Amino acid sequence: MDAFIRRSHLIMLLVSITAVQLQAQNPSHRQLAVTIDDLPAADASFMSASEILEMTTKLLGTLRAQKVPIVGFVNERKLYKFGEIDDRIKALNMWLDYGFELGNHTFSHASLNRVGLKQWEEEIVRGETVTRMLLGQHNLQLRYFRHPYLDTGRDLETRRQAEAFLVERGYRIAAVTMDAWDWMYAGVYEDARRRSDTALEQQLLGSYLSYTGEVFGYYEKLSKDLIGYEPKQVLLLHANWLEADHIGELLELLRGRGYEFVSLEDAQNDPAYAMPDLYVGEEGTNWIDHWAITRGHPPANAPGFPQWVVDRSKALPRRPTQP
Ligand SMILES: [Zn+2]
Repeated sequence: MDAFIRRSHLIMLLVSITAVQLQAQNPSHRQLAVTIDDLPAADASFMSASEILEMTTKLLGTLRAQKVPIVGFVNERKLYKFGEIDDRIKALNMWLDYGFELGNHTFSHASLNRVGLKQWEEEIVRGETVTRMLLGQHNLQLRYFRHPYLDTGRDLETRRQAEAFLVERGYRIAAVTMDAWDWMYAGVYEDARRRSDTALEQQLLGSYLSYTGEVFGYYEKLSKDLIGYEPKQVLLLHANWLEADHIGELLELLRGRGYEFVSLEDAQNDPAYAMPDLYVGEEGTNWIDHWAITRGHPPANAPGFPQWVVDRSKALPRRPTQP
């Protein structure tokens, strides 16, 4: 009898594992959490408060209409512009009024790899003030942190100390698995938009969507090759005019790949996010790269970013804000 029960449990286990794997591999069951960094606006120092409000209204309108759960990550330093503080906080508060969530992205977008642990910890504490107050008014708690530049530490000791600090303050680190460098497009796009160069805007949009497709294709395959299935993915975007104007087209592209949109909490409950992660490095990168490198298989042949966009970006009077 015991043997029979054990065997039937084993069969049930195998059936459920197979079901999970099939579900994960079936393109129509892909799942993705969308996150948006550098709030209230990636380019906040060059935008007026009224432009930030206009951009935020457009971006959030589409996201709410399409029922996409979002966590937005804040750099509170961007709120402090004389004469505009109230309106900049108002733009931030809109995210919560629209039903989205906010997380901490450090006060001034400080990299753990550049400023060192102590200063980075101060950046986190300082970056909580307004966000925590606004969340409290919406009966929410501050619970997510996103590393600027995805810099998670140059050595394992620093990385683990940083993680312990975050846990102690009640944070969960927001992972990223999909990143098509919208920030690199956004500077060029916003410049074209100000000059009403609609031809260039469309060219950039076409390239952005096409590169996004390549990045997703590459990391979907790498996921399967590496861990045997496609985990619930996490996409990194930024608060800029490219997304405000065109996130609808991006969502349509992703739905076309079989994605449905889930919360960050749901995505990160995928067991993949509990896998060993020993990544350290000067350059931040996404979690699929972390896992691959941890397993001794550094990823190769990732799709190349379009050089003409890099060149256009370098030619801008001012450099774009990096994630
Ligand atoms: Zn950022």
